Amino acid sequence: MTDMMDSIEKIDPEIYRIIKKERDRLSDGVELIPSENVVSIAVLQAMGSVLTNKYSEGYPHKRYYGGNEIIDMAEDLAIERAKKLFGAEHVNVQPYSGSPANQAVFFALLNLNDTFMGLDLNAGGHLTHGSSVNFSGKQYNCVAYNVDKETELLDYDQIKKQAKKAKPKLILSGLTAYPRKLDFKAFQEICDEVGAYHMSDIAHIAGLCATGVHENPVPYADVVTTTTHKTLRGPRGGMIMCKIEDKFDKNGKKNLAQKIDSAVFPGLQGGPHDHVNAAKAVAFGEDLRPEFKDYCKQIVKNAKALADTLMDKGFELVAGGTDNHLMVIKLVNKGLTGKGKDVQTALDEAGITVNKNTIPYEPGSPFNPSGIRLGTPAVTTRGFKESEMKVVGESIAKVIDNLDDKKVIESVRKDILELCKKFPLYPEFDILK
Ligand SMILES: *Cc1c(COP(=O)(O)O)cnc(C)c1O
Repeated sequence: MTDMMDSIEKIDPEIYRIIKKERDRLSDGVELIPSENVVSIAVLQAMGSVLTNKYSEGYPHKRYYGGNEIIDMAEDLAIERAKKLFGAEHVNVQPYSGSPANQAVFFALLNLNDTFMGLDLNAGGHLTHGSSVNFSGKQYNCVAYNVDKETELLDYDQIKKQAKKAKPKLILSGLTAYPRKLDFKAFQEICDEVGAYHMSDIAHIAGLCATGVHENPVPYADVVTTTTHKTLRGPRGGMIMCKIEDKFDKNGKKNLAQKIDSAVFPGLQGGPHDHVNAAKAVAFGEDLRPEFKDYCKQIVKNAKALADTLMDKGFELVAGGTDNHLMVIKLVNKGLTGKGKDVQTALDEAGITVNKNTIPYEPGSPFNPSGIRLGTPAVTTRGFKESEMKVVGESIAKVIDNLDDKKVIESVRKDILELCKKFPLYPEFDILK
């Protein structure tokens, strides 16, 4: 057996080198994927801790295994901090990630083939909001709502009309690529009018909702799901918040909170990832500090600065700009319909990481879409402000306007490297030791 006390550098030099390379890639490039962030050393340490060794099926103080008194303290803290952060009545921190969190809610509240409504994938919904290739679209009947073709904004009167006709059991409010504010109150009114559960998925905007930079759906919606690794800046994971009472089943055997908990475990998952849940507690502790609100405000300022720079350079953005942390460039007016993949590759070569994305009423295909999605959570963590966003926006414009010119891409790569050197990632801390 290998020596348990040896470091990864000695035991597994191959993976050691890969981790180092990835750290360098992160340090030397500009990360603009809106679902990504850079976590603190404290979060990394909790994830890399001995808590990974434990089995603790069940919930705090009601476990199936012995030896969980310490684990209970960690999970209790995560729940307590999440409740405070969002003003939630009930919290389940065990979902392994955002998708399983959504799956658990569907499992708790819907029967197979029940009808629900979610935002169309091309217009900024998530795969788990009813896409035909996902469990949510295969096992349930999804009636998608879309944005208005002209304004590319949600039209709540239109959604209400559609809901009255479709009579969904659940309406999902949430986004993965919609750049404007969501009106959770309007969603709630529609749900009340047609007798549907309101499920909100704030995976992307959770940090903004927790700090009041975006409206928080928790006071309205029956159930709110989120990831913990996007704007909340925690470990890769999921979480479900809900009301305790089930408004459609007030005298049922289980209340809403109990239905959600039993759908997560034993309904879908096995043992919780205790090391990750402890890291969630660490992140929520960070999110409760006043600096986190300043960070979230800066995310939005940076997104506006980037959007303004791009529009100045003649780019069109979905819905004409951004209110949150993300935006989607429409490549159509640049003669690049269906070329999102080529643009993504060229930007990668220049050290700018983005993802190709569909645009509303996509004229291309999911693999060759006509949009580029950009977001500012990771660069804002790194310390970028409006002036850096201007440099980044100008660099993006240069690359897209000179897609086939290797010399231009090379010179942008140099500029980006210089910019990144001013904002070192994980300075003075060797994450590998
Ligand atoms: C990212 C995301 C998810 C899925 O999260 P994973 O952790 O990748 O499973 C779910 N819903 C929305 C809206 C998302 O943006």
